[in-house]
Amino acid sequence: MPSNKVFVLRIGLSVLALASATMISGAAMAQAAAGSPPPGQSPPGAGAAPAAAAMKNPFPPFHMIGNIYYVGSAGLSCYLINTPSGNILLDTGYPDMAEQIEGNIQKLGFKLKDTKLLINSHAHIDHGGGMAAIKAATGGKLVVMAGDAPFFESGGHNDVLFGDRNLFPAVKVDRVIHNGDQVKLGGVTLTAHLTPGHTPGNTTWTMVTKDKDGKSYNVVFFGIVTPFPNTNLKGTPAYPGMGADWAKTMRVIPALKCQVFLGSNSSFYDLEKKHQELLNDPNAPNPFIDPTGCKAFVDRGEAAYQKLLTSSPQAEVR
Ligand SMILES: [Zn+2]
Repeated sequence: MPSNKVFVLRIGLSVLALASATMISGAAMAQAAAGSPPPGQSPPGAGAAPAAAAMKNPFPPFHMIGNIYYVGSAGLSCYLINTPSGNILLDTGYPDMAEQIEGNIQKLGFKLKDTKLLINSHAHIDHGGGMAAIKAATGGKLVVMAGDAPFFESGGHNDVLFGDRNLFPAVKVDRVIHNGDQVKLGGVTLTAHLTPGHTPGNTTWTMVTKDKDGKSYNVVFFGIVTPFPNTNLKGTPAYPGMGADWAKTMRVIPALKCQVFLGSNSSFYDLEKKHQELLNDPNAPNPFIDPTGCKAFVDRGEAAYQKLLTSSPQAEVR
């Protein structure tokens, strides 16, 4: 209902202002962990509001490869996976990005009501904050890893990293999944890999897509799988198992078959550069097929983890 949508948006905007004023977004921190910020992004520590604003900058929606479309912003990746029975949306961005993401879906010629399933990387304001609004607009069913379900349903209360500082509109979870569970629609199967540490239910998704060359490719949509430099592997009162969870993620990530390299943040896989390459020569090999870049990303995460194992955290989480 439109009135619900306005209500949700207002709440989202007010909490966003609060969150922006108090700390750097999780996405910005992830950027720091993942490497240099992309052009136009304020470096971590330069101020939360500009960093968050840059992450939300519009990006033209486009066909990436096979049945996968980009519908996110410049910094926060959201994907639409098309099937004969409707579409699957992976991540939503911030609460106040909901109309942007909905507009991107429609610009590609898809109907919002054909979005049947809503999946996510994790329950933080910058990746899943718009879920309530987009669920209301599409009628899609929300599928969430068990560890993150309480955070979606409470709107981010008691977050393991942020406490109550990055709240977003709460949303009902329709299906709770666990490591290895699959989501199926219209002959397309996505597999959920639990990659915890950033959040208890952080999820990396994999699927196979067939491109126009007729070949099938293994796709990986990474969640946040690189620990922040200030991660305390000894655990925290809010998340005693954080160290053990990161160890689990470090075992999972290198074992994934990765040809098409994607993730929750555009900086992970050089979205802007690869999008430009796709525009420059649509007949060249698809730049998102990048097993070498994928391995380098995984190696950087492993290096960041090893550094944490051998040194104390750089700063307190809060
Ligand atoms: Zn996060």
